[in-house]
Amino acid sequence: MRVVYLSSEVVPFAKTGGLADIAGAIPKSLQKLGVEITVIMPLYGIIKENKYPLVKTDIQFEVRIGDKLKSGYVYKGFMPDSKVPVYFLDNEQYYGRNGLYNYPETTKDFEDNSERFIFLSQGALEVINKLNIYPDIVHCNDWQTGLVPVYLKTIYARKECFKNTKTILTIHNIAYQGLFWHWDMKLTGLDWGLFNSKQLEFYGKLNFLKGGVVFSDLINTVSKTYAKEIQTPEYGEGLDGVLRDRSKDLYGIINGMDYSIWNPETDKFIIANYGVKNLSGKQLCKKALQNKFRLPERNIPVVGMITRLTDQKGLDLVVNKFQDLMKADLQFVLLGTGEQKYQELFQTYANKYPAKVAVKLNFDECSAHEIEAGSDMFLMPSRFEPCGLNQLYSLKYGTVPIVRSTGGLADTITDVRSYPITNGKANGFLFKEYNSDLLLATIIRALDLFKNKTQWTKLMISGMSQDWSWDISAREYIALYKKIVKRVP
Ligand code: ADP
Repeated sequence: MRVVYLSSEVVPFAKTGGLADIAGAIPKSLQKLGVEITVIMPLYGIIKENKYPLVKTDIQFEVRIGDKLKSGYVYKGFMPDSKVPVYFLDNEQYYGRNGLYNYPETTKDFEDNSERFIFLSQGALEVINKLNIYPDIVHCNDWQTGLVPVYLKTIYARKECFKNTKTILTIHNIAYQGLFWHWDMKLTGLDWGLFNSKQLEFYGKLNFLKGGVVFSDLINTVSKTYAKEIQTPEYGEGLDGVLRDRSKDLYGIINGMDYSIWNPETDKFIIANYGVKNLSGKQLCKKALQNKFRLPERNIPVVGMITRLTDQKGLDLVVNKFQDLMKADLQFVLLGTGEQKYQELFQTYANKYPAKVAVKLNFDECSAHEIEAGSDMFLMPSRFEPCGLNQLYSLKYGTVPIVRSTGGLADTITDVRSYPITNGKANGFLFKEYNSDLLLATIIRALDLFKNKTQWTKLMISGMSQDWSWDISAREYIALYKKIVKRVP
């Protein structure tokens, strides 16, 4: 089976969030299972700077953006430690700048994002054609490639190369839809007839993700619970109706995690490696974390958070109860970037409670690994969470997750109250309603159990022993691919 995987970000080349982790992992698992996979992504400025071993191919292509013809070049590389080919679309005007989607200094979206991702969507199809791939499946991800299924059913429908091609769209987060003013329809090259409320229009605007939802052969999202949630007005961000219309073609597949990157036994970022058989390294990681973040070296619970600082992540609940939290004997370490109001608030807490609170307000891969390894508990009280990766990393690092029961958090975390700790199923702490009293009560439950070292260690080991690797999810993707390949167009 030939699959082309399109993503606007892929680890290790470019990352703003979970999508990159996933796009950097699943193609490798699919290839191991016999899928002929090719990855296509933009050649961002940051990729050029990092000097990956890429080779410029002789492929050149053109995309019409409105009345302008834009040309692109193609570079080729491989996913690290694998034979998965990655093709990078090069256009200096669109991608040769700092930032993937927005200005890093202000987090304001680039004004030309619609053009940039029309270029990616059509450019990818041009390149697939030039490479003679004849794909069975084009696997699209999020709004940045949402127009691909639309193009394949319209402008590209008659191209020989796509005669038997089916599409699947994975929604990683429905809050990001790629909404642009209606005049950008002209840039897409698509027929204005598609600009109606059943297809590309969304309350007067052009919606790339909606296009993908309507036109792709199958849709999936990254957990079973989120697949249900997005069909409700509460979580659907206005697309719940369209998704309900397609509910027969909508699936949920939980993300896996890449144990070659996130594994305390081999992690190169942490001071001491450890595993279920030898937990002593975790104590050293905790001390190292306290030192690095200038917190006193004390044997009290360290609660970690690594997160985009947005409302989605439940930060208002944490802020609401911060004073109460500070009454407990604990330390709190936060790594995050995002909204100014949260950056300021957490910086104020760090100044006010220097012995208890430490924050790092940048994007820092190394600190992320150190926090996973050095914390005792990991906090993720998300308002919604399509899948979430950090709770899975936390499980592997013996850092017990405290999460709100939503989306992928509900599908991966089982509360200690549900099963006896000895049977290996329970792996964390959950609360249901989006409510700060419940958040506080759940943290207090965790702090109480932490006092019982034997029980706590058992809980850590349960999480560390569970298998959330990609191989399981990759098989589910292959089953979905097979399902649509069989369909008669
Ligand atoms: P989302 O994709 O919604 O941001 P996920 O939990 O699915 O949330 O994935 C977030 C990914 O981004 C994780 O790999 C996490 O470690 C990483 N991450 C988030 N913020 C930072 C940061 N400030 N520094 C380093 N890594 C971060």
